[in-house]
Amino acid sequence: MNNVPNEVAQLYHQELFKHLETLSYLRKERQLSEHILKDYQIGYSPSSDFLVKNYIRKDGKFSRVERLQAVLELDLLKINGYGENIDPYDFFCGFLTFPIHNPQGKVVGFTSRKFIEAGNRPKFMHVFYEDGILYNEKSLNYEYVVVVESPICALTLEQYGIPSVAVMGIHRIGKTYQKLLGVRDVYIAFDSEDKFVGRAQAEKLASLLLMRGKDSYLVELPLLFEKTDVNSYFALASFPVDSFKFLMSQAKRASSLNLGRISKRKQFKGSTQDIVKIVSEYVSLEERNGRYWGICPFHAGGKEKHASLCVGGKMNIFYCFACSCFGGPKEFVEMISSQ
Ligand SMILES: [Zn+2]
Repeated sequence: MNNVPNEVAQLYHQELFKHLETLSYLRKERQLSEHILKDYQIGYSPSSDFLVKNYIRKDGKFSRVERLQAVLELDLLKINGYGENIDPYDFFCGFLTFPIHNPQGKVVGFTSRKFIEAGNRPKFMHVFYEDGILYNEKSLNYEYVVVVESPICALTLEQYGIPSVAVMGIHRIGKTYQKLLGVRDVYIAFDSEDKFVGRAQAEKLASLLLMRGKDSYLVELPLLFEKTDVNSYFALASFPVDSFKFLMSQAKRASSLNLGRISKRKQFKGSTQDIVKIVSEYVSLEERNGRYWGICPFHAGGKEKHASLCVGGKMNIFYCFACSCFGGPKEFVEMISSQ
């Protein structure tokens, strides 16, 4: 295996810094630090699709044939058409790229996320020499690891010193779960969403591990938006590490759950009462970016200094980042009147 994929990863990485909109998406919207972007060599393949083609044309360390073979082998360049109409194109054009390194530092694959709408391409695409790998496997060397769905979520946790790996597409769980058997404590923190896809897949992963005698913990992210993932949870919390570690401490052991039969979480969307109006009768709320924040009445005797209670949003719910209390208008009234 030569180092051509490493060179391509570096090309994508350099390209990231030439496109302000991709940079701003990762830094501002996803709140990833400059360090993380560099350490993990996050990149971008522009939609013009000439990057890899030009790389093969120019002179360099490896011969053109070597480069062409390597990019075709790893599917970085795909071919459309045949004969005289052959038309190679960059597989990842318009996508953010996340190279996957082996322990020796060689790039053995890429995972990606769509950045520009172009045709019917899926949101996430992956290429590997061998299937059965996780993103960021170096974090499997710790006593615990948090398993997430996407590289951006894994990097969010890594940024705060929490070891994390991503399954890169929940349909690949069956191929990759064995990798987790050697870690002492496995936490599964998949996306929380209306349709319970993430929850179902988290249970599937937990079941596969249990069948091999391995217990794990299921971290339940609150449904703060139509979908909450680790990244959006961290972006909203004032003390994300404390809040997330609290969620980890609350996580249930897979062996204690009736996997596959978990009753669907209550949905709060249908409530016609305005949660902000109701909570503000008991708690003084302050508006910040379309959400309301106040001192949580359900922990520390309602005397905490920091406003951890988040109220409102499209889901019309309350959620405390410190004690994880959670619900809609009805639940708030029930909880406050039983105090
Ligand atoms: Zn609270």
